[in-house]
Amino acid sequence: MGRLLLALCALGVAASAQQYDVVIANGRAIDPETKLDAIRNVAISGGRIAAISEAPLEGKTEIDAHGLVVTAGFIDLHQHGQTPENYGFKARDGVTTALEMEVGVSPVNPWYAAREGKSLINFGATAGHIPARMQVFHDSGTFLPRDTAVHSPADAGQLAAILTRLREGLDEGALGIGMGIAYVPAATREEIFRVFQLAAARKTTIYVHLRSSGPVEPGGIDALQEVLADAASAGASLHVVHITSTELRQTPAALEMIHSAARHNLDFTTEAYPYTAGMTDLASAIFSEGWQARNGGIDFHDLQWAATGERLTAESFARYRREGGMVAIHSIPEEIVRIAMADPEVMIASDGILDHGKGHPRAAGTYARVLGKYVREEHALSLMDALRKMSYLPAQCLNLSTKGRLQVGSDADIVVFDPGRVTDRATFENPAQYSEGIPYVMVNGVWVVKGGQLQPNVFPGRGLRRGQ
Ligand SMILES: [Zn+2]
Repeated sequence: MGRLLLALCALGVAASAQQYDVVIANGRAIDPETKLDAIRNVAISGGRIAAISEAPLEGKTEIDAHGLVVTAGFIDLHQHGQTPENYGFKARDGVTTALEMEVGVSPVNPWYAAREGKSLINFGATAGHIPARMQVFHDSGTFLPRDTAVHSPADAGQLAAILTRLREGLDEGALGIGMGIAYVPAATREEIFRVFQLAAARKTTIYVHLRSSGPVEPGGIDALQEVLADAASAGASLHVVHITSTELRQTPAALEMIHSAARHNLDFTTEAYPYTAGMTDLASAIFSEGWQARNGGIDFHDLQWAATGERLTAESFARYRREGGMVAIHSIPEEIVRIAMADPEVMIASDGILDHGKGHPRAAGTYARVLGKYVREEHALSLMDALRKMSYLPAQCLNLSTKGRLQVGSDADIVVFDPGRVTDRATFENPAQYSEGIPYVMVNGVWVVKGGQLQPNVFPGRGLRRGQ
């Protein structure tokens, strides 16, 4: 009897003494997997979510999240800008993990090593078919190919060399295979199929920018059919990037093709950003002969030079194309953007890159824009669906069981935002503007945004590798 009392006493003491590292109190906790949407206290210890409770919890430090949403940090599958400048803008937009999945990298290990211990948010990349091909052909481009990798078909030895680089990248922990067929149009149908076979053999996903776009063949639908056929034949998982900028007015048909394949047990997914313009390098193959038709019949004045914000003419197009640099392509109808935003299965991904404050506003504003414009103002989708498209679905795509969820045991990647106020501020003229209404962001248990301010000298971001 005495011993039992003593044991109960000890238990009571232990329970009342439970003190967590951080408590986020009184917030509206939303978990897009379990559909929890209720006022809860969330406790974090050791970089993980340790408790979610209706009862008060005690933390060494606490914030009051009354009136704010507390949910899993956003996972951006498509972020080309992978520098401290970019990570700051991502964090202020609620992104806790930013991944370079489309173009990818090669070689993989040095890319991770350059960021490990120095990054505000989590990062990662695929093994990239584009950079592998650029190396094999000694292309003169830096980020995207400009000459030999664009125009040269691969012979058997060169194809083997490309595949070897991809294999090595996967061995080093790359998160999948990235591919941008439109940037390397000389890559034959067979070369692309061999890459899908490799993805299937390694049980990993291919993230692909399709071979062509727009309504005129070769266009968006036949390009989609190429990769759907390759993926189905090889047995590989497929993720099609930025569906709206590729398919334009054919987006509804393309979504039907992707979704109905998914219903036949084929692992096909897609993503979109909430803007009516894309952006890429004017020197790339995207602007070879026939670019107007491939972009739905646009013309020079629909192109906007990122460095100055000016609209192009035939003369400035020719001059800047020789020089190379980022250009916005105003080609996507608003109603098409809205269809992709409203679709509960289309993930949100930014395709963002900022370079010394220049670029596309999507780098800084994608997530706040979905929450402000499409959820709050236009009611195009529910808040729960939006959060699912921003965190849980990308985590599923990546097989990350401890991310994209607000659950006990999940990594403490958390965003706290004001659903009545969250909004994007970045514009095409001035893209380097932080989103507003996102006062707190945590990465692996460390605040990277607090009181609406980026925290200096914190580097809690980790490199995500496959199989970890
Ligand atoms: Zn792309």
